[in-house]
Amino acid sequence: MIPVQGYTGRCVAVLGLGRSGRTAATALRAGGADVVVWDDGQVGRDAALADGLTLRDLTQPQSYNDVAALIVSPGVPHLYPAPHPAVAAAWDAGVPVDNDIGLFFQSFATDDWDGFDVAPRVIAVTGSNGKSTTAALIHHILVENGRPAQLAGNIGRGVLDIAPPCDGAVVVLELSSYQADLARALTPDIAVFTNLSPDHLDRHAGVGGYFAAKRRLFAEGGPDRAVIGVDEPEGRYLANQISTGQADDRVIRVSSGQKLAGQGWSVFARKGFLSEFRQGRQVGAIDLREIKGLPGAHNHQNACAAYAACRTLGLGPRGIEAAMQSYPGLPHRSQLIAERSGVTFVNDSKATNVDSAAKALQAFPKVRWICGGLQKEGGLDALLPHLSHVVKAYVIGRDAANFARQLTGTQAEICTTMAVAVSRAVAEAQQGDVVLLAPAAASFDQYDNFEKRGEDFTACVMAAAQPG
Ligand code: ADP
Repeated sequence: MIPVQGYTGRCVAVLGLGRSGRTAATALRAGGADVVVWDDGQVGRDAALADGLTLRDLTQPQSYNDVAALIVSPGVPHLYPAPHPAVAAAWDAGVPVDNDIGLFFQSFATDDWDGFDVAPRVIAVTGSNGKSTTAALIHHILVENGRPAQLAGNIGRGVLDIAPPCDGAVVVLELSSYQADLARALTPDIAVFTNLSPDHLDRHAGVGGYFAAKRRLFAEGGPDRAVIGVDEPEGRYLANQISTGQADDRVIRVSSGQKLAGQGWSVFARKGFLSEFRQGRQVGAIDLREIKGLPGAHNHQNACAAYAACRTLGLGPRGIEAAMQSYPGLPHRSQLIAERSGVTFVNDSKATNVDSAAKALQAFPKVRWICGGLQKEGGLDALLPHLSHVVKAYVIGRDAANFARQLTGTQAEICTTMAVAVSRAVAEAQQGDVVLLAPAAASFDQYDNFEKRGEDFTACVMAAAQPG
């Protein structure tokens, strides 16, 4: 637990009582604040009461008379499509609005650090896709190389739930656009931007707002090092804006596919090989092709970003490579489920948007593709140029027919349920095929979340394996 500093004896309100809200409430109390909490749902309010927290209806203007700050959970809209009534009430009352990430950066450093040889560092990872993989990979590499490290944020533990750092410790944070948008303090030592593609547009009023939220990580705190994926214009813009000139090695440019030239510091992957260049000379290389936990060009982008972040902390290329070899991967991201009669089954349920699904499809040569679900804004057109590896699509979801209709030029069968999709794919798969769940859609039409969808896929694959 990181006790929150700066609010001793003052009242702080917490809105949204999921994992991060309840952790924030506990950390605020540990720092000596008086905490009042609210959630629109009865379940959250009951959980708060069970934790001994005090409820107050924060949607009412008079609730803010004694409140020093309102802490908002990431699931609560703070601006778009419309501000939550409690957020609007806090604005009207002149009460600062913040989140657990802001509280963390405000509270992380303590006087104990004076006795440390090496001050703790924070690496924060943002971007549209690959955040969890990159953050988990950085954490894995650090731990394998004997560095004390903790993984938190959007992945793993709530950020205020981590243990206070020891001498030389590194905290690896995954930050979503919602978290980066709202935090009042945002001061990582190393900031990582993986890539940008449209997502969560309703919460940011379009791509511009979405990018602006992620950019705050670089603009607000001025990190010592910025690792930036430059395969989209937004990344190139960001790298250019931060660097003072060609040889400024505060910025490390990362690419999957392009050879990056120039005098600066860069890490890129081409044809399965990672290369590191500094001042025009190659200083590191890794063959990524045999690294089982990181298949495909998109994971090679993540590998480059993680490599670059670890290099800024002084790790050597060989130590990083050895750790990558043992990276186990994360569930629901390019996760190998089974291999049977020459057919491979891969669970990429986290491919909830068009770009991540396109990347997953390109990672394998012959794909029987299970897709569909709750479609995101923007449609499927951007996916169509990336379907050349698809042998056939097996479409799930309540609106499977509509989804299938948009896959012009690709053979698509309307299966609606996962069980049907898996059994049809198993029946038709041939040696060398990959049966891939990469939905290009959210899961909420049929499941509570993407994890449940991935678990259902896995269960259906396992059931199909039973002799019978
Ligand atoms: P995030 O935390 O940003 O959602 P994950 O690592 O959980 O990222 O991966 C989410 C999805 O995006 C997965 O389906 C994965 O296969 C895909 N993906 C992972 N890395 C990348 C990348 N660098 N570019 C595009 N898609 C990616």
